[in-house]
Amino acid sequence: EEIAPFVWRFKGQKPTNDTITILPRKESAVILILVRNSELKEMIYTMERFERSFNSRYNYPYVFLNDVPFNFKFISNILKYTSSNVSFGLVPKAHWSIPPNINDSILKQSLQQLKMNGVAYGDSQSYRHMCRFYSGFFYKHPLLQQFEYYWRIEPDVDYFCEINYDPFSFMKKNNKLYSFVISIKELPTTIYSLWKNTLLYGTTHNVTSYMLDFFASKNGNYNLCHFWSNFEIASFGFYRTKEYQSYFDFLDKTGNFFYERWGDAPVHSLAAGLFLKPSQIHFFNDIGYRHDDFYHCPNQKPFLSSQSDKLDSIPSEKLLVNESDEEIITESRDKSHSDSIRDEY
Ligand code: GDP
Ligand code: MN
Repeated sequence: EEIAPFVWRFKGQKPTNDTITILPRKESAVILILVRNSELKEMIYTMERFERSFNSRYNYPYVFLNDVPFNFKFISNILKYTSSNVSFGLVPKAHWSIPPNINDSILKQSLQQLKMNGVAYGDSQSYRHMCRFYSGFFYKHPLLQQFEYYWRIEPDVDYFCEINYDPFSFMKKNNKLYSFVISIKELPTTIYSLWKNTLLYGTTHNVTSYMLDFFASKNGNYNLCHFWSNFEIASFGFYRTKEYQSYFDFLDKTGNFFYERWGDAPVHSLAAGLFLKPSQIHFFNDIGYRHDDFYHCPNQKPFLSSQSDKLDSIPSEKLLVNESDEEIITESRDKSHSDSIRDEY
């Protein structure tokens, strides 16, 4: 395996705040981010919130990955926002290129077709590399080999609540391998044959699945549900199994990461469907989170309407919302959107 040639390791330069008690970091875990140099501002936005909600008290290390080298501006600025150890690495070329089985003219056609149909990132080749990297390669990166768990974060996300325990320890103690805060439906035009291929994999490899049913609609098709993978706290062990890797290879041979634009989120979810038991998956209901127009707030009644009578018994989280955050919540999350989410439940 090709070793990533560019690796920079630093100690974060954020001055230590004496009022913060650094808690013992118990788990072998890493904060994982794939990001572009151009997303510095959005990345800082996330780090301020992520550090404030959780990591300033634990100082788990960060690993930043990129398909091109990080520039000085990116590195020097990121270091100002944490006092953790931070590594910056390059994705090996072999994990970010068009594999030999891909037919160039079919790919071009498909990019055009999806663009014409108005599919998000329909004609983006880099988006396909990103999804394929997060499906089949991230866990092989040299900078991540020493770790047992990762927490994936992205530019431009909110963490609303104080997280006053270590979710990694929770995962470990409770034998959880995968977790989520938001589950939504995939765009059907990007995953036409993913379900069919997943079932085919399951039958040809004699998989005894405990929860693939969860992803089936009444007529036997994929119900499009998936765990939204821009937030993930998970065990690398889940991906580093023969089973997961053979499932990924099977999917990759179809070429449909490129032709159809399969996302890493439905791939992770259906892999969980094939290989995990429900008890190995955790919904972090107590983590307040936003990315794009979707968010999860532990205290939000509309999202818990069927259980709203039970709400009083749920301890209210200590919200870290300041005024500018408040605007984000009330203003830019339009009502029609939350209505449509509610309708689905
Ligand atoms: P979305 O959440 O599906 O809209 O996709 P994003 O554009 O947010 O991409 C998911 C993650 O991968 C984000 O952390 C991006 O910064 C990162 N990402 C996406 N495309 C690229 C790319 O071409 N290069 C790098 N280095 N990171 C990328
Ligand atoms: Mn994103």
